[in-house]
Amino acid sequence: MGAGHESLPLVDRDWHGHSRRRFLTAAATLVTVGVLPLRALALAGPYSFKRGALDITVVSDGHLVFPTSILAPDAPPDALKQLLDAAGITGTEIKPDANVAVIRSGADTILFDTGSGANFQPTAGKLVANLALAGIQPDSITKVVFTHAHPDHIWGTLGTDGNLTFPKAAYYAAAAEWNFWMDKDLVTKVPEAMQPFVLGAQNNLTAVKEKVTMFKPGDEVHAGIRVLDTPGHTPGHVSFEIPGDEMLIIVGDAIVAVPIAFPHPEWRFGFDSIPDLAIQTRKTFLDRAATDKIKMLGFHWPYPGIGYAEKKGTGYAYVAAS
Ligand SMILES: [Zn+2]
Repeated sequence: MGAGHESLPLVDRDWHGHSRRRFLTAAATLVTVGVLPLRALALAGPYSFKRGALDITVVSDGHLVFPTSILAPDAPPDALKQLLDAAGITGTEIKPDANVAVIRSGADTILFDTGSGANFQPTAGKLVANLALAGIQPDSITKVVFTHAHPDHIWGTLGTDGNLTFPKAAYYAAAAEWNFWMDKDLVTKVPEAMQPFVLGAQNNLTAVKEKVTMFKPGDEVHAGIRVLDTPGHTPGHVSFEIPGDEMLIIVGDAIVAVPIAFPHPEWRFGFDSIPDLAIQTRKTFLDRAATDKIKMLGFHWPYPGIGYAEKKGTGYAYVAAS
């Protein structure tokens, strides 16, 4: 984080009687000395920066909790343990952050994924509360763009009252992703454990059926924001390229677990639906990111999830941007 201009909050609001800026400074200090976890700072004031005419803010949806056994089921156990130890991950759980990108451009406020909502995991579904802290009200969102239709990315589309959380938004989804999840027979084709994912995707996607625009790789979802094909995690998974002096890519879940996927993009990840394709996508993506020094925003990387890939040995190292 640091005191750079990129970490200033969007708005200076009161925080229990204190100036927001002062609270942020205090929070940053506490994080520095290890008193508060970094995600506490995400709650205190979202990370934002400018890219040409675009204002980009990373708003936390909270975090998820997964068993570490899902990370790389086929990896040599010793090598996997070494990487987890080095990342300070002990025990049997990993708690990846959930970083939602919000881009403001002219009259538009564009949300990339809607987070988990109230029905996935109790540690997630904090998006609306954290948007409010950033001064962003749900009815000010004009566009919602989906990377893919997993629960932690779209179950926040519907509120607990059954209404759309972002009622005034137009919705954008990859045709390949939409068609995969909306197949009415899909629920009978997947393992039982996956059935809630299918029903949840169908429920949330159906709710935006009248408001959705389908896109394909290469299309723009907004001036200067282009769809990049990154399939494998799900069949129609996409990322988003924002060209400029320095390319920025909103990665989504093309790369999920930082300590594992950067050094070993070739290891199968337990949540990838087409593992070989996901591996190919990760390799191609990381090679390009390292070669072209592309700035990336990863949905599940440590908040705010912005960093670079550098070639290291046979794989890559993650270098946080802040
Ligand atoms: Zn995810």
